[in-house]
Amino acid sequence: METRPGNDRTELLGMNLQELEIVVENLQLPRFTAKQLARWIYVKRCSDFNAMSDISQKGREILADRCVIGLSAAIKTSKSADGSKKYLFAARHGFVESVYIPEKDRATLCISSQAGCRMGCKFCATGGMGFKGNLSAGEIINQVLSVEESDRLTNIVYMGMGEPLDNLPAVMKSMEILQAPYASAMSYKRITLSTVGIIPALKRFLDESSCHVAISVHAASPEKRALIVPAEKAYPVKEVVALLREYDWSHQRRISFEYTLLGNVNDSTQDAIELAALVKGIDCRINLIPYHDSGRGGFSPSSAEATEKFIKILEQKHINTTVRRSRGKDIDAACGMLSAKQTNKRNA
Ligand code: SF4
Repeated sequence: METRPGNDRTELLGMNLQELEIVVENLQLPRFTAKQLARWIYVKRCSDFNAMSDISQKGREILADRCVIGLSAAIKTSKSADGSKKYLFAARHGFVESVYIPEKDRATLCISSQAGCRMGCKFCATGGMGFKGNLSAGEIINQVLSVEESDRLTNIVYMGMGEPLDNLPAVMKSMEILQAPYASAMSYKRITLSTVGIIPALKRFLDESSCHVAISVHAASPEKRALIVPAEKAYPVKEVVALLREYDWSHQRRISFEYTLLGNVNDSTQDAIELAALVKGIDCRINLIPYHDSGRGGFSPSSAEATEKFIKILEQKHINTTVRRSRGKDIDAACGMLSAKQTNKRNA
């Protein structure tokens, strides 16, 4: 059970119902108080024990004395002219970001799973920060519950700062709570985990979760990918795809491949042909992502011409391809940029 450093009170956010039951049992409160707590925290997003009106006065006092809820508001928000919004949260190990992306038929929140990241992808601002620490399940859930649009969210994507499969226990726990009937009751069809493909953790995730998965490819050739995504050396994308092929994708789970288009780096005809060959025969979607300048690695976006050509080759190979609309350019929406700025400010 989580306790804040220098504080021996138990933090409730991030606990599932069974864990809340243990807490209330230890406090000699009725067992049903656990369900009441879950509802107040996860459904009503209540951050004050005193406001939990269906819990006895005595129970509220005991809870306030021995526990903390753990919900914490963003320390900064920036709204883009295109409607997307970036939130900055202070976690135990550093600043983390979430991005709210409203669209015509959905409202997505992109959340972080770590402060910083160990993967070191060359085009990514978070990759340049190094690793600061894992988020707890509570810190992951807090992002979903503490954004102003929490009630409106239809989709959650684990695509913010960090590599979710490098923090699998907390990520799985947060997904369990998001889907639980006593909490957000979100369908697994609304949750996507994005990963560079840490193979043992990916296998566990595929075995234990039904949520969608997105693989960050960024280059199909092993040599080229290793230059952009260093994880290629330990977890070759060909082996990642071979693992995916072992699973049955005929049910509702969706697989997609993420590909950031970097001008004159991974956007040639040959790159597109190799990408098509990599995913051949898999019922999937390729998500092409326009590059947001992260100020790292000296990369530039692909030209409109190169992008068009790339798409055409994939379409000729009958691969379902989408280009992600560039959002939040005016608010440093590329992963890790706002957090890096805030960290620099604090260290200045
Ligand atoms: Fe980590 Fe994702 Fe950035 Fe790669 S792209 S360094 S996995 S946060």
